[in-house]
Amino acid sequence: MPDTSIPQDRLDRPVQRVVIVGGGTAGWMTAAALSKLLGKRVEILLVESEEIGTVGVGEATIPTMVTFHRLLDINEQAFMAATHATIKLGIAFEHWRERGHRYVHSFGTTGRDHWAAGFQHFWLAAHARGLARDYGDYCLELQASEANRFAHLPNGGMNYAFHLDASQYAKFMRAFSERHGTRRIEGRIVEVKTAPGGGWIDAIRLADGSEIAGDLFVDCSGLRGLLIGDALGVEYEDWSHWLFNDSAIAVQTESVRDAIPYTRSIAGDAGWQWRIPLQHRVGNGIVFSSRYIDDDTAKRTLLESIEGRALIEPRVIRFKPGQRRESWRGNCVAIGLSGGFLEPLESTNIHLIQRGVLRLLQLFPQVVAQADIDQFNRQAEDEITSIRDFVILHYHVTDRRDTPYWRDCAALEIPASLRHRIDLFRETGRVFREGNELFAENSWIQVMLGQGILPRRHHPAADLMSDAELDEFLERIRKPIAQTVARLPMHADYLRDYCGEA
Ligand code: FAD
Repeated sequence: MPDTSIPQDRLDRPVQRVVIVGGGTAGWMTAAALSKLLGKRVEILLVESEEIGTVGVGEATIPTMVTFHRLLDINEQAFMAATHATIKLGIAFEHWRERGHRYVHSFGTTGRDHWAAGFQHFWLAAHARGLARDYGDYCLELQASEANRFAHLPNGGMNYAFHLDASQYAKFMRAFSERHGTRRIEGRIVEVKTAPGGGWIDAIRLADGSEIAGDLFVDCSGLRGLLIGDALGVEYEDWSHWLFNDSAIAVQTESVRDAIPYTRSIAGDAGWQWRIPLQHRVGNGIVFSSRYIDDDTAKRTLLESIEGRALIEPRVIRFKPGQRRESWRGNCVAIGLSGGFLEPLESTNIHLIQRGVLRLLQLFPQVVAQADIDQFNRQAEDEITSIRDFVILHYHVTDRRDTPYWRDCAALEIPASLRHRIDLFRETGRVFREGNELFAENSWIQVMLGQGILPRRHHPAADLMSDAELDEFLERIRKPIAQTVARLPMHADYLRDYCGEA
């Protein structure tokens, strides 16, 4: 059903001009994709304000970025050189299960599935018989990251993502977008003009008095949600009862060692710290809940733990975990922080931007139609909900009880969807990826095992193997991985060669 608050003449109008509001990662990724793939058909404008600036964080990604760049035909070497990028093969979680414990969530596949059951069942059977090594010994990407090694292997033999400099990435994507016809307008938006009824944006007005009209507006204005929230009044669903963190402090430091090919996530008393190595510097930050510690304590904790000279003054960022009840309303689509925010624990926000952009491309309207809007919103909600559950898992399943924060995390009333997944794995070792969920079985297994769930049972097919057969099955996976890793170049050396050729 069309939204009755939208005048019919607006609904009949062909979409010829798209106005993107905001020039952060979300704005420029949106501009890059729309101008490259639809630029011949629609006019694309992007408005940003240097005075307001961008959020300036968001430097760890996941492998879907490689696919996004391929779609746009972006030269990877040029991109990595311009953004001082390093390779990311996973995330090391330190002190999450308990102080002193460490595990890795890597991007690879662990082991080899069998006709009857996933690899984890064979590993569990071997573990029960004292035959298994670490679960991570059967994953190439994890072993490569632990050895600080990397190379592009044929046929996508190694799954990887990037750490990148967010401000350089926005510049890189801006140059790309402008080459493909995006027109950039500098200016501060002071008013959003809506049609009678309020469900449709006609134009935006800048501080210099100029007005920019558009048929479709993409709100990439960041946490505030200038268009989708302030102007159209779409409510924000708050998830802070599940995800306590509402603040972050970020600081960049000079590098004091070669960059490692993974992100470090170090749990603290009331949150965690990230460490993201780039070629020329390191991104550091603390994510915490202001209900449990104050800014000064958080800042002191961060500064006491960093290595190398600080390059900027630490900056406090406030956020609210959650999502807009609608990502698309009328002729306004929210992409990036304006549409929702999941804290950066699993580096999923840039991925959500990509998904939003691809969805917009797939549903790009000739004229705005409510059926497209409904479809967009349904997909956006499903996507973020399953990622939300995955993030909550890290906090809830832990043996840590040493501070009020961790005791409250363990006592959380978690969403039913997550409860079911945890119970199923704990009882049977089974995990299933549903629909178009981002995180596949192996991600769930690595984190559930890492956080301390050892399933009670496994699939009976794994018991059909004798000890010798099971041992041989596992060694046939492990040994070639160890041999491959030993032949890989060191990550830092590989980067110097690869980016030097750009
Ligand atoms: P912003 O970068 O805030 O851009 C907003 C734009 O809108 C700016 O250009 C601004 O000038 C413009 N604007 C706003 N108001 C006006 C106005 N009135 N007039 C004109 N222009 C205006 N994501 C990951 O994937 N990995 C991570 O590791 C990660 N870490 C993060 C850590 C923290 C602490 C936070 C808060 C986020 C993190 N994210 C991460 C999320 C990531 O930073 C964002 O998803 C990404 O940067 C996109 O931001 P954005 O473009 O939506 O907003």
